[in-house]
Amino acid sequence: MDSILKRISEINLRYEEVKEAGLYFYLQPLEGLEGAWVSSNGRRMLNLASYSYLGLLGHPWIENAAREAITRYGTGTHGVRILAGSLPLHTELEQTIARFKKAEDAIVYSSGYVTNLTTVSTLVGRNDVVICDKFNHASIVDGCLLSGAQFLRFRHNDMPDLERRLQQAGPDKGKLVIVDAVFSMDGDIINLPEVSRLCRAYGALLMVDEAHSLGVLGATGHGIEEHFGLQGAIDIQMGTLSKTIPSVGGYVAGNRELITYLKHVARAFVFSAALPPAQSAAAKAAFEVMAEEPARVRTLRRNTELFLGGLKARGFSTLHSETPIVPIICGEDQQAFQMAGVCQELGIFALPVVSPAVPAGLARLRACVTAAHTESDILHALDIFERAGQRLGIVK
Ligand SMILES: *Cc1c(COP(=O)(O)O)cnc(C)c1O
Repeated sequence: MDSILKRISEINLRYEEVKEAGLYFYLQPLEGLEGAWVSSNGRRMLNLASYSYLGLLGHPWIENAAREAITRYGTGTHGVRILAGSLPLHTELEQTIARFKKAEDAIVYSSGYVTNLTTVSTLVGRNDVVICDKFNHASIVDGCLLSGAQFLRFRHNDMPDLERRLQQAGPDKGKLVIVDAVFSMDGDIINLPEVSRLCRAYGALLMVDEAHSLGVLGATGHGIEEHFGLQGAIDIQMGTLSKTIPSVGGYVAGNRELITYLKHVARAFVFSAALPPAQSAAAKAAFEVMAEEPARVRTLRRNTELFLGGLKARGFSTLHSETPIVPIICGEDQQAFQMAGVCQELGIFALPVVSPAVPAGLARLRACVTAAHTESDILHALDIFERAGQRLGIVK
């Protein structure tokens, strides 16, 4: 028991220290959300911490769909989907996702985290091998651990290392390779052409997490297959309904047999309640808006280029980001906390990410641009990052 209590008290100690130094920025309640702006503690700040990449949060058509669903079906369901919980809305949402992802079928779960946890642990077990990029999201790692499969990891986006792991796995084992499409801390893109070639060559199934790829990659926001022109390269297309899609939930799209299997075997589907009607309707409407308003994807791309180019020109390191997720490298944890403090003081809402979430010495401010930012918002943010970076000696 002592060791459990010790762990609890260690985290509390770290929390108190950071809080006392006035450098605690997590769990800040945001009172107002209007487009790209937020209010916290009575102060209005430009939001560079949003995952609503296409600015769909607050879209009137999507909100209306959610309201209508409540009027029609109420706020909850009668239980799990497989028994009394399925609504026409759920099947319509799954068909909409399947069409958008150019897959035969799809399944939705109540969160993206749960989607990875249950999908991975349903697909592989004791006699299989699961192979992950080292920077994969925690929900994938947890799914791998839960599965009981042999768990191998390759160096981040390092294709020769992936090939070594595939050889290590041996020819007779069931093999599943899992990667993020866009890495959530660094904003770089997986080398899908090579990952998919290696999976074919070694007879491995390929699962890709598109949490930060849906609505972001590809000329019309359909994701990483569209980005590389590699339709059909991914066996298991996973995504969330909580980022670009302004709802909550997660999905897997793939062939009909895979989805039928998951609908009868995945424990988070069979033993956990259905998505509420309002969230299902909002998600479905959001996919429809994405298809009808492709200009949002172009705005996001323009903002990303302006922001990344501007930070580099001002001397910041942004690692290999090519997406709206931009790490602004500060160095030690303390510097990232201070950078967040100065930026918030100057009216920019962005959050620090420190070890162990990222390697020590690469603590950063993580800034995300969205289609809701105007060009002048971006220029304003660049100006403030430069002033804050100069004040802390991160740039000249
Ligand atoms: C956010 C995220 C998830 C989890 O999605 P939720 O819907 O928030 O549970 C899974 N994978 C990646 C890469 C993510 O960034």
